[in-house]
Amino acid sequence: MASPLLLEPTRDGLWCEAGEFHVDPWRPVARAVVTHAHADHATPGCGRYLASRNTLEVMRARFDQNLEGEVLEWGQARDLGGCSVSLHPAGHVLGSAQVLIRHGNESWCVTGDYKCEPDPSCEPFEPVQCDTLLTECTFGLPIYRWDAPERIFEAMNAWWRSNAAQGRTTVFLAYAFGKAQRILAGLDPSIGPIGIHGALTGPTEVYREAGIALPDTLRADRTTAEDLQGGGAIICPPSATGTPWIRRFNGPGGLRLGFVSGWMQVRGRRRWQSVDRGFALSDHADWDGLLRTIRGSGARRIGVTHGSTRVLARHLREHEGLESFEVPTRFTGEPPPSTGGGDEA
Ligand SMILES: [Zn+2]
Repeated sequence: MASPLLLEPTRDGLWCEAGEFHVDPWRPVARAVVTHAHADHATPGCGRYLASRNTLEVMRARFDQNLEGEVLEWGQARDLGGCSVSLHPAGHVLGSAQVLIRHGNESWCVTGDYKCEPDPSCEPFEPVQCDTLLTECTFGLPIYRWDAPERIFEAMNAWWRSNAAQGRTTVFLAYAFGKAQRILAGLDPSIGPIGIHGALTGPTEVYREAGIALPDTLRADRTTAEDLQGGGAIICPPSATGTPWIRRFNGPGGLRLGFVSGWMQVRGRRRWQSVDRGFALSDHADWDGLLRTIRGSGARRIGVTHGSTRVLARHLREHEGLESFEVPTRFTGEPPPSTGGGDEA
């Protein structure tokens, strides 16, 4: 490396020696700067948190109502040790931030998860200039290219309308924080009532309080089942598939399951035999979005993490003339979708 690393991978995650803090640590540490409130980025039990206002609110809703943390407003610089730290919207989920760290003449940006497509349910992605960019690459393969979100929502609403006409209750399987609220913001409530699983209520409330316009929802349970059967749409985590809970919403024509995830672009139906439809709506940058962001940052040195790191790192060296390296991730192996309560994609 030409210069010492401002951020280094350690057993607890990314560590900034000069500022004495971790970014998205994997285990409880003294001071954590958190990009966003998904479980693979936000760890409960740290001594001090620095994050965006909405990230802290979602962390409270998900982990601990009494969680304390310092809010860093967008673009505001905060001195930590010998560093200056600022947060910039990442466009991934409500509150999601890129972390820009300046030290001496050097600047590093950690993107966290991000996407470049428009999404009315969160703050829009903001390009950040830096010397070294640590970018996620969950979908860092050229096969991943997203359709425009409005087209995907048109397809989702058309599917719901057609199901409702046949007395089939529509179920959208989606992770409870981020994707679920984005779906909610894009559904057409004139088609029928919308029910949400209990796991979604806390995060959804944070979105409403943050001023994100979402249609009215019912809590999907025994008391609302009759209202939702047939013409309704229900949003619930993938883990609810096959449970007695979901069967209670059967309409006269049964249920139709749609999985909403970037993974649906290539492997949806093969992995998820039980779903009727896949919608490739992702909250991560696709291949073009990654390259556009990397080029736009002006960075000469690129660290890649979370996903197809080897392919992207090599592409950057061979085709973009950039220095690149892989940054270890907490989770390795096969990424989502899973039936567990995990986040993402
Ligand atoms: Zn995320």
